Amino acid sequence: MQQLVFATNNAHKLEEVAAKLAGRIKLLSLNDINCHDDIAETGTTFRENASIKSHYIYNKYHVNCFGDDSGLEIDTLNGEPGVYSARYAGEHGNHAANMAKVLQNMADTTNRKARFRTVISLVWNGEEHFFEGTVEGTIRRELSGTAGFGYDPIFQPVGYDITFAEMTLAEKNAISHRAIAVEKLIEFLKGL
Ligand code: IMP
Repeated sequence: MQQLVFATNNAHKLEEVAAKLAGRIKLLSLNDINCHDDIAETGTTFRENASIKSHYIYNKYHVNCFGDDSGLEIDTLNGEPGVYSARYAGEHGNHAANMAKVLQNMADTTNRKARFRTVISLVWNGEEHFFEGTVEGTIRRELSGTAGFGYDPIFQPVGYDITFAEMTLAEKNAISHRAIAVEKLIEFLKGL
């Protein structure tokens, strides 16, 4: 069976994709290939960061692989927090502080439009392919819900009156930016 490395240390993401590829392609984590390097996300776009991860692994280990990058883009903040989503308020992964900063920066605006975006960069036999997923929505004025992670409590997808954090994991996974991008990747791999 063909092998494919997912350039991530996030066990949840890995499991989600591995389940969809079961029986077709053997998915390996960075741990599986003994890679414990901290790959610096120095890009200014999701595309660049996803590409940095996939190429780092491809160039060092010469294996087929893919990397992903995602985040929240808010129209009235000119696309911020964007690639800085995880560290918008300074400290990496402080979701409460990140959301507080977003709400404060948007206190005076009625334009609440935003979207989550995921970009995947796949390097397959030396060629790069990109897959993208977005979900449009609005930013609430207050936090609502406790499920999920990151900006989920303040993001309400179009067509719903609840936030991502008020959805079950299955509901969110059916419409999320990440699920859409992963689905495109899976379709491509199935067609090989
Ligand atoms: P990553 O590239 O998937 O690690 O996401 C980077 C950052 O974007 C996360 O730390 C979150 O702040 C934000 N983010 C990405 N996807 C989601 C999501 O599905 N819900 C909430 N926040 C997200």
